[in-house]
Parts: sequence; structure tokens; C-alpha cells
Amino acid sequence: MKKYLMDKEGKKMKSEILEKYEIIDAHAHIFPEKIAEKATANVGNFYDIPMLGCGMSENLVNGGNAVGVSEYLVCSTATVPQQVRVINNFIAEECKKYPQFFGFGTTHPLSEDIEGDIAQIKELGLHGVKLHPDFQDFNADSPEAFKIYEIMEGELPLLIHCGDPRYDRSAPARIRKICENFPRLKLQAAHIGGYGCWDEAQEMLIGFENLRIDICSSLAFMSAEKAAERIRGFGVENSFFACDFPMWNHMEELERFFALGFTEEENRMILSENFKRFYK
Ligand SMILES: [Zn+2]
Repeated sequence: MKKYLMDKEGKKMKSEILEKYEIIDAHAHIFPEKIAEKATANVGNFYDIPMLGCGMSENLVNGGNAVGVSEYLVCSTATVPQQVRVINNFIAEECKKYPQFFGFGTTHPLSEDIEGDIAQIKELGLHGVKLHPDFQDFNADSPEAFKIYEIMEGELPLLIHCGDPRYDRSAPARIRKICENFPRLKLQAAHIGGYGCWDEAQEMLIGFENLRIDICSSLAFMSAEKAAERIRGFGVENSFFACDFPMWNHMEELERFFALGFTEEENRMILSENFKRFYK
């Protein structure tokens, strides 16, 4: 049973609204139980945003089930190269336990065997690569990172964290270089193209054929009008709904999403259809 949603004025929206839609969460982080608490706290401190409990698969699925999320793109990044294979194995294991998971592996620009990492990701049946330039401490358009994209182009899609007003490792201008140099690389630019750099993202990233955005960790920081305008900037057909677990609660993010005022057809596209068309 799907629970009730609140709309902007705090009125209950009928669960019928939710029943109309298939919902895919295009960006969620999961951590192994041993480190989940610490990893979640680290992310919370980094962004100064309170987290939801700790980032374990079970918590993700419990939150998503309440509103009827049927699929999740799950990922985890390696802050040091030694973690890469362990994390990829972990994600693959979780995907076996949870058939609703669509797993992305990771690699690291300092990894001694990036080709081997990518081969492992494919062997494990994972569907793409997640990179986070700020956590992994590299510039998104550095020669080391380009080596990764070169191997991935035409083979595996990339979900990349974008933007942070405090650093410029994943600034929209750097993400743009990826699009220009690797036009066949399927790219999911997180956070409407640039967390906290949303205007720059509009200037730099619109119009690339293989670029999609997800809309997580953004809606809480701008008006519904502005969010809708920025999503329309990229194109409704190029946008994926996501919650950035363990950052945001599915229920609250859906409330923010439905307050954007898209049509039913547009909601359907952003909540699931665009994702399926891009990845399947
Ligand atoms: Zn992420």
C-alpha cells in the first residue's frame, strides 16, 4: 500500500496520484553494513545536510516501498583505488539480493588497472560507472579521468556527481569538456548538472545529445518555478527523478517533485520513462 503524500500546502494528496506512476529512483548510494554509519555521517558532514538513518540497502528499500519505488540505480564511490574492486563486488552482491537494484560500479583515476576495473564491472553484470570528483579528489576533465572515459565510451554509461560551489573539481565547465571530448559517452549529470552551480550548468551543459540529468539534491534549494525552469532548460525528456539516498526521503522528494507543476505525461517521463529509454 502506498502512503499518502503531502502537497505544498500540507494537504494530503491521495495515494491515487502515486498509483498512476511507475517510479524509478535514478541515484541512490548504498554502503556495506560495517561502514554504513560512518560513511553516511561523512557524507552528511561534507554537505552539511542531515542524513536519513544510515545508508544501507534495507533502509533505502523501506523508504522507497512506502511510495512505490520499483527500481533504484544504486552506486558507491571509492575514495581510494584499493576500494574499487571491493565496492564493485559489494554492489553486485546487493543487486542479487534486491532485484529492484540497477547497479553501477566505480573506478578511480589513480587505479593501476582501470581497464581491469571496467572489465570487472562488466563481468559482474553492473550497468555503468559512478564517479564523484570531489570525494575522489580529481578534476573531472583531467587527463587521468579522460583515460577512464576513453575506455567507457560506447561501452558503459557514466553517472557523475556535478557541481559544488566550494570546489571546482566537478564544475559544469569541466563536465562540458567530457561531453565535447566523448560525444558517444552516455552521461548522467547529477543534481540538474551542478549542485549549487545551477545557472552555470544551464550555460555549460545544455544541448549534448548523450547527456541526461538527474534532479536529486536540488529541489530543496530552489523555488518550484526555478526548478521547473531549469529542468525544462535541459528538456523534460532528458531528466530523471532521483533522491540521492541517504540524503533525502522519497516521500518528501516526491512532494517537491509534484509541486513543480509538470503535466501527467511529463511526470511519467521524468519518473520512469526517460530512464528506461536511456539505459535499456
Ligand atoms: Zn551520488
